[in-house]
Amino acid sequence: MNARVMKLAPGALAAAVLIGVLGALYAKSSAVDVGKKNRVESYLRQMKQVDAEWNVDVLKSRMGINANYDPLVSPLPQLHKLRTRLSAELAGVVDPAAAPALDAVDAAIDRKTDLIERFKSENAILRNSLRYVPTAVSELDATIAGLGRADPARAQRLAALKSRADATLTGILRYNLFPDRSTAAALGAEVATLAPLAADAGGGDDVAQPVANFVRHAQVILAQRAVEDSVLTQILATPINADVDRLGAALDHDFTAALERSNRYRHLLLAYASLLLALLAYAGYRLVRSFRVIARVNHELKDANESLERRVHERTEELSQALDHLKESESQLVQNEKMASLGQMVAGVAHEINTPLAYVRSSLETVQMHFDGVLREFVTAMAGLVDLMRDPETPDDAISGQFETAVAVRDRLEGFPVADEITSLLRDGVHGVDEISGIVVNLKDFSRHDRSQMARCAIEDCLASTLQIAKPVLAGRRVRTLFARTAPIQCAPSQINQIFLNLVTNAAQATGEGGVITLVTRMTDPRHVAVDVTDNGSGIPDDVLPKIFDPFFTTKAVGEGTGLGLSIVYKIVEQHGGSIRVHSRSGVGTKFTVTFPVDTGEAAVLDSQPVPEIGIAA
Ligand code: ADP
Repeated sequence: MNARVMKLAPGALAAAVLIGVLGALYAKSSAVDVGKKNRVESYLRQMKQVDAEWNVDVLKSRMGINANYDPLVSPLPQLHKLRTRLSAELAGVVDPAAAPALDAVDAAIDRKTDLIERFKSENAILRNSLRYVPTAVSELDATIAGLGRADPARAQRLAALKSRADATLTGILRYNLFPDRSTAAALGAEVATLAPLAADAGGGDDVAQPVANFVRHAQVILAQRAVEDSVLTQILATPINADVDRLGAALDHDFTAALERSNRYRHLLLAYASLLLALLAYAGYRLVRSFRVIARVNHELKDANESLERRVHERTEELSQALDHLKESESQLVQNEKMASLGQMVAGVAHEINTPLAYVRSSLETVQMHFDGVLREFVTAMAGLVDLMRDPETPDDAISGQFETAVAVRDRLEGFPVADEITSLLRDGVHGVDEISGIVVNLKDFSRHDRSQMARCAIEDCLASTLQIAKPVLAGRRVRTLFARTAPIQCAPSQINQIFLNLVTNAAQATGEGGVITLVTRMTDPRHVAVDVTDNGSGIPDDVLPKIFDPFFTTKAVGEGTGLGLSIVYKIVEQHGGSIRVHSRSGVGTKFTVTFPVDTGEAAVLDSQPVPEIGIAA
């Protein structure tokens, strides 16, 4: 975990705790489910309703209004359904106070169910007897009516039995509707008289049987009505309704308690929310303050940034000026290097010119010396003679005198080999002048090349010109040239001269007196011309080799080398789209190979006999 997370963790934890407490309070404050309460109340209401209807149905059955017992059975599933729904609603929420009330409701339902079952069986017996007693009396009536035609006297005697039976039937049916204990006793006594009365009236079996049936069912009714009513009373007294009310009250109590609890939590929530709001307000205040600080710091940063940018701009300006200076210095150094090699060259050329110039001068001085002596006298004497002879007024003796002077000078010239000497001196002079003019032609040639414009030229011409110029530098070295007829290249001849002047100068410096320097030109392929400058000099040590093209790198003594030669060579070669390679063995020699692309369209021009590549050991 990094430091930033560690720093944030307590804050996040505190926020989580605060939010957690808020959530818990909210949950507690909204714990009362009013919908659930309404549903529970509705189920309880329905249970009471079903129970009331059940009672009505029981009473209807008591009154004999219901044709069967279905209405007595159907409420039970309804009650069970409501009870199940109630259980589902109360699952997990029933307060201990409400639990006994719920048990009491269950017990009341069970008890009422049992009583209803009993009522059904008791009522079935009663209904059967109630249905039969009128039938028994009707049978008795029919028998007596039958006897009336056959045996009127007997029928007369049985008439009293019949009216007693009718009255008893009425009494029993009334008793069935409005039972009371004294009536039951009176009716029981009356029923007990019917059988003896029938025997006294000489009823016989045909009368005794219906009477006996009537008596039996009447006794059942008298006994059963009380039993059934007792069951009925118990059914009606079964306190489902009251128990449901009690359960409702208990649940209501629960609900009220929960409501109070929830209200308490609501108040707590309110207080807590107010506290949180206050905290939030405080945090907001702190935040605004922090924002202000951040804005101020931002502003300061912006200012600092702007000043930094200004300073960077100033520094950049300074740097770019420094760079300009540097570039200027670099080009000055390059110029210096050029001037240095030019100086070297000029010194060499001056030396070259000096020798022929010396003997031209010496010849001319000798000629002048001769001329200033007897020759001048002879010429003067001859000129005087010619002047005298041209004038017709000149006396003859003056002419002959001048003639003799001239003869005397001529005689002095005789035996003096001045003419031959002057001729030879003049020949020498002309030869010296020729040599000087040769050097001047070379210089002119070099200066023709010494222009930076691009031109199409043969590399061999450039090399020849360079070798002429480098003659003084190469003094004491043997220079071998193996030039092929290569295709012309596009180049700035002066720069190409500079490349090879540098390479040849380095080779001369590396070899010393007696060294061998070989220049080879060749076509490496139809599109490239290569020049090898090979020497058998000191070679370049392995640790030095990677640095030789670096500007200012030199192994030469101060004043002998600037360390710029090869870096300039590299730059020029690059500008011409060429490449330079070096191969050297310490103590054996060095070979530089410079390659240039041929001028477009000349790729096919190849020497018929290509020049072989020369190794450095050659
Ligand atoms: P400079 O000649 O002024 O030293 P260069 O850039 O021309 O500068 O050469 C850098 C170095 O490369 C030289 O100092 C020398 O050590 C080495 N070098 C160049 N050419 C040769 C060569 N032909 N033989 C031996 N060493 C060479």
